[in-house]
Amino acid sequence: MKFTKFGNKLFVFFLLISILPLSMAGAIVYKYVYDKTKSEVLNQLRTAVHNQNDKLHLLLTKRRFRVLDFSSDGFIRDCIDRMSSFSTEYSQIREKLNIHLRANKKSLDPDILEIEIIRNNGEVIASTSLEQIGKDKSHEDYFRGPFLSQEQQGSYFADALKMEENGDEFQLVFSGILKDKILHRPLGVLVTKVRGSVLQSIIGVYEKEGSGGHSGEIYIVNSCKLMIANSNSADKTVGLGRIIDTKHVRDVLTSKGEVFGVYENYRGVRVLGSAMYVPETNWVILSEKNIKDAFLPLKRIKHIFLISGGGAVLLVFIFAFIISGNINTILEKLISGTRRIADGDLEHPLTIGERKDEIQELCESFNLMMKELSESNKKNKLLFSQVKKGRDEWQKTFDAITDIITVHDKDLHIVRANGAFYEKLNLNVEQLSDKQFCELFRGIDRPWQNSPLVRSIKSLQPESEEVEDPNLGGIFLVSAYPLIDERGDFYGIVHLAKDITSQKNAERQLVKKAKELATANRELEDFVYIVSHDLKEPLFAIEGYATKISMDNKDAIGEKGKYRIERIRANIKKMSQKIHEIMEVLKVGRVTYNFKNNNVGDIVNNVVDSLESRIKAGKIHVSVQEELPVVMCDSERLKDVFSNLITNAIKFMNGEAKRIRIGSDKDEDCYTLFVEDTGIGIREEYYEQIFKIFRRLDDVEVEGTGVGLAIVKKIVELHNGKVWVESPVSDGKGSRFCFTIPIKGEHFDENKDSTC
Ligand code: ADP
Repeated sequence: MKFTKFGNKLFVFFLLISILPLSMAGAIVYKYVYDKTKSEVLNQLRTAVHNQNDKLHLLLTKRRFRVLDFSSDGFIRDCIDRMSSFSTEYSQIREKLNIHLRANKKSLDPDILEIEIIRNNGEVIASTSLEQIGKDKSHEDYFRGPFLSQEQQGSYFADALKMEENGDEFQLVFSGILKDKILHRPLGVLVTKVRGSVLQSIIGVYEKEGSGGHSGEIYIVNSCKLMIANSNSADKTVGLGRIIDTKHVRDVLTSKGEVFGVYENYRGVRVLGSAMYVPETNWVILSEKNIKDAFLPLKRIKHIFLISGGGAVLLVFIFAFIISGNINTILEKLISGTRRIADGDLEHPLTIGERKDEIQELCESFNLMMKELSESNKKNKLLFSQVKKGRDEWQKTFDAITDIITVHDKDLHIVRANGAFYEKLNLNVEQLSDKQFCELFRGIDRPWQNSPLVRSIKSLQPESEEVEDPNLGGIFLVSAYPLIDERGDFYGIVHLAKDITSQKNAERQLVKKAKELATANRELEDFVYIVSHDLKEPLFAIEGYATKISMDNKDAIGEKGKYRIERIRANIKKMSQKIHEIMEVLKVGRVTYNFKNNNVGDIVNNVVDSLESRIKAGKIHVSVQEELPVVMCDSERLKDVFSNLITNAIKFMNGEAKRIRIGSDKDEDCYTLFVEDTGIGIREEYYEQIFKIFRRLDDVEVEGTGVGLAIVKKIVELHNGKVWVESPVSDGKGSRFCFTIPIKGEHFDENKDSTC
């Protein structure tokens, strides 16, 4: 039996909890019954001793009175008197006395064996046994006793003596003083010797023999420790007259009291006993019971208890055996089932047979849990495969990125790197161990102070910088992205180095080209300006010559000639006007711009004031947004912008409700300023065209040159902004011209291609 098994432990537990209380209860009951039985038996024994003492007292009293009665006999006293006075009649008187004792006294009691009369000198002067006459009894206790005990017991003495002719038999001896009738002088001692069996008759048979032999007995021991009576005198092994020199007898004789308890008696048997001192005779009465018999009921209880307890334990044993066996079987099934589950088999439920208890419920709950686990396992597997797929895809993507990407812990050790890293640095995974990126990348043991890595750790913000790397031979856009967990703690950093060498080269190329283009443009503009300027003079000369020809040949050229000269002059004027306008547009890019913070409201109001007469004439309502921004601009050029836009709005106004609205919006990088009207509007196909020089819409018959919006576009672009038109604005008409000005106030830079 393995004690590691739960069922076996339960089995032992059952046994323990059944045996322990049973044995404890048994021990308590046993002790109680033992004490109770002992005290009861001792009480019985004491009672028996006391009863015996009472009977003995009665017997002794009776016998004492008889002695007293004899000793007060007048005839006897007279005879003794006369025997001492009349020596001549001595033998006659003694003869008479002997006869008297035999006939009148001994005959009264068949138990009296002998009556003696002893004179003061110890001589037997008369007796029922003639052979005793003349013997000296002065040494006998029964002679001296009455004198000695006179004070205490009133001249009375009693004892048991062995009969000399038959050592086993006892005779009781009672003696008393014979006194002179008148003077009460002691004359002698009267002795009666009684058959010892009278003692035996008062004791009787105390108890029948028990299972252990002599179950109980009462016996009397005299002062010489001789057994003088015994309730089992029939028993040959007892033998009256044997010496009973046991401890308890000595104790009683010494203490002259009572002793009781468990001890070993004269037979060497352990007994429960009670012993009592008899002061009248200096004897000890003992009442004893064999301890085996005394505790016989206890033995029976013990047997009953052992049988019933054994039965109970056996029942518990069988019960525990069945239960533990059952539990072991179930547990083994559960263990083999759970092992199967641990090995990954979630499909087969646990089976423990047909039961209707908590274990069955447990099993069902377990199976339910397994079912859910199995389903969740399937989901997990699916999820896992998806995650794995995602991870593989991520890894492939990570490796496919041509930029060098490394992921670092917070001590800047590389924990992950993509394929480009290993490829470009010609390394393998093993070489990464405990190395910092800068060691591998640049051969330095710590990142330089102002590197994006260091800055990003400080600011906990993404940082980047272009770095020319001599080792790898290229220009890299190095970026660092801090990794922050949900508690806001920094736990690593992602480092990305994008090879922008070719891009940078292309950019540089582009800037170079742009610069070349700008130079060429400027040269072209200069050329156009110079040509335009230079063209003016020949035109003025042609016009002068044409005027002179017409003046000088006024009559000769006739009407037709005049008309032709007028046409020449008109075309020259027209061409001159065009040249002027071209020069105006070119001038926009040639003048020096004075960028300052200017209030757009002031600029707009100024323009509106200057156009007041035209506004009034057109009966137009102009509204200017109350708070227009302060922007970084050249105020004169911005005035030109608003002047062109508001003039156009006035020019192309129609309909009943004539309104112009000037305002602004703001977004993250720039202000958007606009001039909105309720005029004729612009079709979508012209949105781009109208900003080109000399582009005017054919279907509009309004005076104009077609350069206003071109100038607006140029000025706005020189402020690094852009311009566009939206139309219609509302009710299918009107247009809104919008342009932006950067908030940061960045003005046009030829090297920059960005606009707000
Ligand atoms: P001009 O006004 O001298 O014709 P612009 O360059 O200022 O030259 O304008 C070009 C053309 O754009 C105009 O001829 C006109 O057709 C159109 N245009 C400009 N502003 C407006 C406007 N507010 N409403 C309708 N059309 C406009």
